[in-house]
Amino acid sequence: MRPLVAVALLALCLMGSAADVKVAVSIPPLADFVREVGGERVEVELLVPPGADPHTYEIRPAQMRFLAEARLLFVVGLGLEWWLEDVVSASGNPELEVVVTSSGVGAIDRDPHIWLDPLNAVLMVASIRDALVRADPAGRLQYESNAARYILRLLELHEEIAGRISRWKHREFVALHGAWVYFARRYGLEQLAVIVTTPGQEPSAREVARIIELMRSRGVRAVFAEVQHPTRIAEAVAREAGASLVLLDPLGGVPGREDYISLMRYNLERMEEALG
Ligand SMILES: [Zn+2]
Repeated sequence: MRPLVAVALLALCLMGSAADVKVAVSIPPLADFVREVGGERVEVELLVPPGADPHTYEIRPAQMRFLAEARLLFVVGLGLEWWLEDVVSASGNPELEVVVTSSGVGAIDRDPHIWLDPLNAVLMVASIRDALVRADPAGRLQYESNAARYILRLLELHEEIAGRISRWKHREFVALHGAWVYFARRYGLEQLAVIVTTPGQEPSAREVARIIELMRSRGVRAVFAEVQHPTRIAEAVAREAGASLVLLDPLGGVPGREDYISLMRYNLERMEEALG
């Protein structure tokens, strides 16, 4: 065989091996991390679409079919994707490896919202990189260099957030849904209360009154709510306490906050309008 033909055949083989790692992920930030690390070698299927609530999602039949052929399933863990537990065995796919990206991240009270701290995101990206290398060793150099480059961007994001929050006048907030404990701990904000402690369950009038009283006595400026949950109670609490309703997005995947880094900048700006 002539050398040029051999090189062309080799190139074809390499191209053939590209984009053949089928990967499912639960939430939009994980989809973004996997695309950043996997590049063209991976095909990503997002299970919980933008706008849906990952705490209460129900899987679709077409997604079951994808899982039957997928190699990896990345989840957050810590109970977030409880609706996936029986799905993995039901997929009948012995090749499917479930990767829990929260393992190795120090959890607070088993709260699953770990990705909202960019330094936790760094650890999640590292476990995604390692799982892709295990599943597709031929792509190791690409996965490692992509992950290293993306981790640098996450560290820059962390510096930017820390720098801006260090200049804010106010640090206390009340949350509709307790999604921001990791973010708050990392950047020195203080969550005084959570209005809805169990997703889907309304708080008592007495509990709401207690929170409003607490906010008035401390001069709390912000009630954090999220675009994925009804905001009626949060609006009422903010109005009664003379605070601002801050509409945040822990998941993104929509225009303007498509990727994780623009999502976190969006949230930072919304918070800054009330606390800065
Ligand atoms: Zn949540």
